[in-house]
Amino acid sequence: LDSNISHDMERLQDSFPGFRSKYRLIKRIGEGTFSTVYKAEDLQYDRYDNSWDMEKENEKWTPPPLKSLSSQDGHQRRRKPKYVAIKKIYVTSSPTRILNELELLHDLRDCANVCPLITAFRATDQVVAVLPYFRHADFREYFRKMTVLDMSIYLRSLFTALASVHRVGILHRDIKPTNFLYDPETRRGVLVDFGLAEREGSDCKPCMCHDDHAARKARLRAAAERTTMVTANGAIGYPKQDTRPSRRANRAGTRGFRAPEVLFKCTEQTTKIDIWSVGVILLTILSRRFPFFNSADDVEAMIEIATIFGREKMKQAGRLHGCVFETSIPTIGSHGFKLDKIILWSTCRSDAGEKLSDDEEQAIKFLERCLELDPAKRISAEQALDHEFLRMGMD
Ligand code: ADP
Ligand code: MG
Repeated sequence: LDSNISHDMERLQDSFPGFRSKYRLIKRIGEGTFSTVYKAEDLQYDRYDNSWDMEKENEKWTPPPLKSLSSQDGHQRRRKPKYVAIKKIYVTSSPTRILNELELLHDLRDCANVCPLITAFRATDQVVAVLPYFRHADFREYFRKMTVLDMSIYLRSLFTALASVHRVGILHRDIKPTNFLYDPETRRGVLVDFGLAEREGSDCKPCMCHDDHAARKARLRAAAERTTMVTANGAIGYPKQDTRPSRRANRAGTRGFRAPEVLFKCTEQTTKIDIWSVGVILLTILSRRFPFFNSADDVEAMIEIATIFGREKMKQAGRLHGCVFETSIPTIGSHGFKLDKIILWSTCRSDAGEKLSDDEEQAIKFLERCLELDPAKRISAEQALDHEFLRMGMD
């Protein structure tokens, strides 16, 4: 395995003329479906940046504080990092997808807590993106140890990033722990991986969830209904004579983190899908279980969500987008469970008659706002930053 990695590293250095005089590859730090990421030293870092402060030289690149974001010319001068992350995007990724990621990263360069793109280059079909290296820990190593205050600080950092991304009308679409690099020591984090991100409204047709209630009811009656029937053995049933227009909706994202409207194939998805995913992260931390949702496909994902929220709320959520949700699975009750119950159960505190702490209750109140099934009612990133739970560590 190690020799494979060093072989790949050699190849990467050979494919770009001049690579070796600019960067020294150190190690592989990530491997995903669409890319491999390496840590590297920028060999020229001190040459073109005389503001580099040798005393502060360390491998921690930190994002600028939110307040200092707008300097006179609108561009924040960032300290040049000594270490970089080199993201080699697989040639199997489509050129439009690669361009999309680089373009969005460029647009987001001044956003707080978003890891900025330093540069990108291409040699034939190979593309690499260069980002400042951000020291972070593996989520699995710290999430069980987090206090409620830690959760508030972690989420404040993530929501700061999301608020600035959403403000410019971009949906990240793949919010999950591996795409939010967090350093529990400095308590700072940066959002990475805009490989699935898109501009709001770019890939969308009107969905009835944006109509008012009366209009929606009328359209729902008139339209041939889309039915998702989930039966006990997991098979889905569809109406026999299906005259519905086929519906194509963006489903990009990671299983377990997809918002209900994505599962219901809403064609007019908004930035609120990212908020749901943050809710899943918070649910994971509070319940100390990762992954919390473990569905193999979208139908299973609906079953998992329905088990928590109950059949009635799930039906209502489907109706928003013109879907009829039916199920005969006995473990899905009509009203589901309260989130505080779920958290007590998953942390094995329900038998002992233990209660949640006041802090935890406050976190759960916030969680309910993130896991609102109706995207229109779900809290926005901007509102989240004003929520009492995220202001916990601020005074
Ligand atoms: P993919 O599209 O393959 O998921 P990501 O951009 O999410 O690519 O990067 C994959 C992994 O590489 C991340 O989960 C993280 O561990 C590491 N990584 C990415 N960018 C950085 C960075 N700027 N600093 C440190 N590590 C990074
Ligand atoms: Mg990723």
